[in-house]
Amino acid sequence: MQKIIMNKPPEGNVEKTTNFATLGDDNNGLFSSIFKNITKNEYFSAGVGIISVGALVTVVNRFNSYLYTAIKKNMFTSLEITINDRSYYWVMEYIVKKGIISRHLSLKTELKNDKNIKNVVFSFIPSVGHHLLIYDNTFIFVERSREKNLISDGFLNSTSSNTSGRSVPFENIRLSTFIWSKHIFKKILTNAQMYIDKKEEGKTLLYKTFGHEWRPFGTPKNKRPINSVILPEKLDEYIINDIQTFLNSSTWYIDKGIPYRRCYLLHGPPGCGKSSFIFALAGYFDFNICTININDIYLTDDRFIHLLATIPPRTILILEDIDFIFVHNNTNNENKNKHSNTSSTNSLTSSISTYSTLTNNNIKTLGVSYSGLLNALDGIVATEERIIFMTTNNIDKLPSTLIRPGRVDLKVLIPYANVYQYNKMFLRFFPNEEKLANEFATIFKDFNLSMAEIQSFFLFSKHDPHKTIQNAKEWVQMYAKK
Ligand code: ADP
Repeated sequence: MQKIIMNKPPEGNVEKTTNFATLGDDNNGLFSSIFKNITKNEYFSAGVGIISVGALVTVVNRFNSYLYTAIKKNMFTSLEITINDRSYYWVMEYIVKKGIISRHLSLKTELKNDKNIKNVVFSFIPSVGHHLLIYDNTFIFVERSREKNLISDGFLNSTSSNTSGRSVPFENIRLSTFIWSKHIFKKILTNAQMYIDKKEEGKTLLYKTFGHEWRPFGTPKNKRPINSVILPEKLDEYIINDIQTFLNSSTWYIDKGIPYRRCYLLHGPPGCGKSSFIFALAGYFDFNICTININDIYLTDDRFIHLLATIPPRTILILEDIDFIFVHNNTNNENKNKHSNTSSTNSLTSSISTYSTLTNNNIKTLGVSYSGLLNALDGIVATEERIIFMTTNNIDKLPSTLIRPGRVDLKVLIPYANVYQYNKMFLRFFPNEEKLANEFATIFKDFNLSMAEIQSFFLFSKHDPHKTIQNAKEWVQMYAKK
């Protein structure tokens, strides 16, 4: 028979010690045997191994990402440029030119109209993804990304072609470099701008409104030579001198507390050169152009006032066909005299002294309100010069308060073409053919024709001055028969 030996319990804490000793002895044996059995089990060992490796990987990953974030935060600095920023394509084009290290480039195709020859110009930009640029011995990490949401391509900058309101994905580009090299960003931006300025030299940039902002629209246009627009004798000179005097008078305006702006109203029949002359003036003075559709029914007064107050520097603001904003039934007085030379509008004096007689009663407008228009025009106050051109085919449709002195500084009639202009136009197409030019001019002397109509005669017989004269005579005979 087996003898059972009972351990004597220690004094105090009797119950607990007794239980512990009893259980402990039994369970230690049990657990260790279970543990031994389990650890001998190959499935268990493998599981523990996998868990340990997993845990290690997680720890290492966490550490790595912590390290990466810490390095990124403390050692790197970055510059983000979004697609709707003007410099977006400049920078991309420039960094490719500077030799970005990339196996993936995207193509950007522009249609250019240089010297009336259509050219297709290809340029390369980094494609979506990561690239490396070594610029001035500095490493720059370039990341171009594209998102799913869309924006209008009208928001794109001037070097992107075919902006037409299509939707394009939102994009951005991020340049990152070491924190101690951050000055490099400024250098890249400055040089990218210089690169584009050189590319756009001799061009006129057109700005349009998108939302609350002015954005360059389409590709920059070649400057129109001022002598390509033929106005009545001395009229072009008169306007050019007026603008030049204005541009030279900044201190006078500031000293006298007068807003440094000058507003011109060009009025007269269509096709006589109002818009062409403004474009040519912009090129002549090296200004860009801002246009806005004030008949847009979604254009609010507030937005219009804001836009006119934030015109980009060195731009001419054009408000074309300003009469279209007014809704009333005035007849077109200026077109009444079409094709009969009874008006006496061809002298310089009458060209610059026409006044409207319309009163302000019951003025209704489309788009911006009339008071919004006046407030916006009056609100153009800036330290830099502001030049505004309004055009209309019907000055009689304009309220007198809109074109009063102070709001419109100079009203200029651009009339139907006169003998002087017929003559000059002929000589522009056929230089040195003075005798034929005089003959050509006399053919039309009893007609009121726009220069656009006269221009069309030269398009039919581009290289033959005699044929041009013959065509002109035939046209006059045909017209006389009607
Ligand atoms: P407007 O603004 O008065 O309606 P545009 O300037 O739009 O006229 O002219 C329409 C076309 O006619 C243009 O192609 C332009 O080259 C030609 N044209 C009009 N007037 C002249 C002009 N005075 N001299 C040279 N070309 C002109």
